[in-house]
Amino acid sequence: MSQVSETVVIIGGAIIGSFAAYFLRQEGFKGQIKIIEKDSTYQFSSTALSAASVRTQFGCPFNIGMSLFGVHVFKNVQQYFGDDADIGFDERGYLMLGSHDAAQSQRENAMMQREQGASIEILTPQDIRARYPWLNVDDIGIATYGSANEGWFDAWALLQLVRKQARKLGAEYINGEVTGIETSADAVVGVRLADGSRVACDWCVNAAGPAGGQVAGLAGVQIPVEPRKRTVFHFTSPVASEGFPMLFDNSGLWVRPEGDGFIAGIAPDEIDDAHPNDDFEPAHGLLEGKLWELLAHRIPAMEQLRLRRAWAGHYEMNLLDHNGIVGAHDTLKNFVLATGFSGHGVMHSPATGRGVAELITHGKFTSLDLSPLGFQRIRNNQPIVESVVY
Ligand SMILES: Cc1cc2nc3c(=O)[nH]c(=O)nc-3n(C[C@H](O)[C@H](O)[C@H](O)COP(=O)(O)OP(=O)(O)OC[C@H]3O[C@@H](n4cnc5c(N)ncnc54)[C@H](O)[C@@H]3O)c2cc1C
Repeated sequence: MSQVSETVVIIGGAIIGSFAAYFLRQEGFKGQIKIIEKDSTYQFSSTALSAASVRTQFGCPFNIGMSLFGVHVFKNVQQYFGDDADIGFDERGYLMLGSHDAAQSQRENAMMQREQGASIEILTPQDIRARYPWLNVDDIGIATYGSANEGWFDAWALLQLVRKQARKLGAEYINGEVTGIETSADAVVGVRLADGSRVACDWCVNAAGPAGGQVAGLAGVQIPVEPRKRTVFHFTSPVASEGFPMLFDNSGLWVRPEGDGFIAGIAPDEIDDAHPNDDFEPAHGLLEGKLWELLAHRIPAMEQLRLRRAWAGHYEMNLLDHNGIVGAHDTLKNFVLATGFSGHGVMHSPATGRGVAELITHGKFTSLDLSPLGFQRIRNNQPIVESVVY
């Protein structure tokens, strides 16, 4: 079958699904692209609720490559999406603090990150104190800082740009919820929507974010991807946000400037981190019970924070190894997975979308080799653990 008569159905039309559609055309795919999205407001999508930050400090080399391509796109949105494109990219590094015990491994990790093309500074406690006098570094043995190609941006603006461009290139967004996936012995042949309609396909991409595991289940495919609720707190404090990095503390908290204030978050204790179903209520108790004290320890002036608001979104957590799953299923060979990014899917959306497009158009990855992220490791229960996760 020639590609002109082929149809790709993408389940989920947020940042991963939209980048897949966009790059399908960039890679020369000539057939139909149908993106099925159940909520065109995107109000509960991870993309809209994320902290929209990008880092190159990862433990797995392929994640660094994915980030570097993402940053390239974020810094050059006008080249990709037109002269008016603007996502407010603020290039500022992540400052990752490590304990004395972790200093050696964090230093080695930084060397590996540099080899992969990341610009990482290694700071001693004295360096940190001199540069960030508001930080308490009494229990800190090392920090690493991304001096280029890290920062944050407006993920909503990015989503609108990619959607608009994908549409312009002929991709069709269909309002509807996929409730069934029809398969033959070795392929997905169509999807069923909640309104009873059917869309036939030659390729089916699972870009359903936190619902990625559930959607895979519709095709009889088991992947260890489940939603996990994460709350973001927005507050003001006496600390100046100018020059403030994206701070990743060794306690697990993160905090960065947002407008004239800050946003911060921390994962709940494992026992409280169950499948949230449709629960998007912010976990207010986390601030009082955990985050505030840790913040005040690290940045004493933040003891006087004033909460403005809080929101919660869902991570698409890959319970096997906290890495994305990108690639075709081994039996249903036209069922392409693009989910499980466990909190780093916005920054990796350009690389993922491009990888999915390459697989469908050329039958293999032709730029970044994303094969380590493929389904086989799930089948074989062989995790490739990403150690730098928050
Ligand atoms: C609080 C928080 C902070 C985060 N911070 C960052 C960060 O700083 N940097 C970063 O890179 N990542 C971050 N992430 C993770 C990031 O948001 C996700 O990895 C990314 O948005 C995943 O994109 P997606 O398109 O796969 O999923 P989503 O944005 O969730 O989109 C999936 C879409 O699929 C649709 N859908 C689901 N099921 C169906 C169905 N059956 N039929 C039709 N449509 C369906 C949904 O409506 C949704 O629009 C954060 C996430 C959260 C929650």
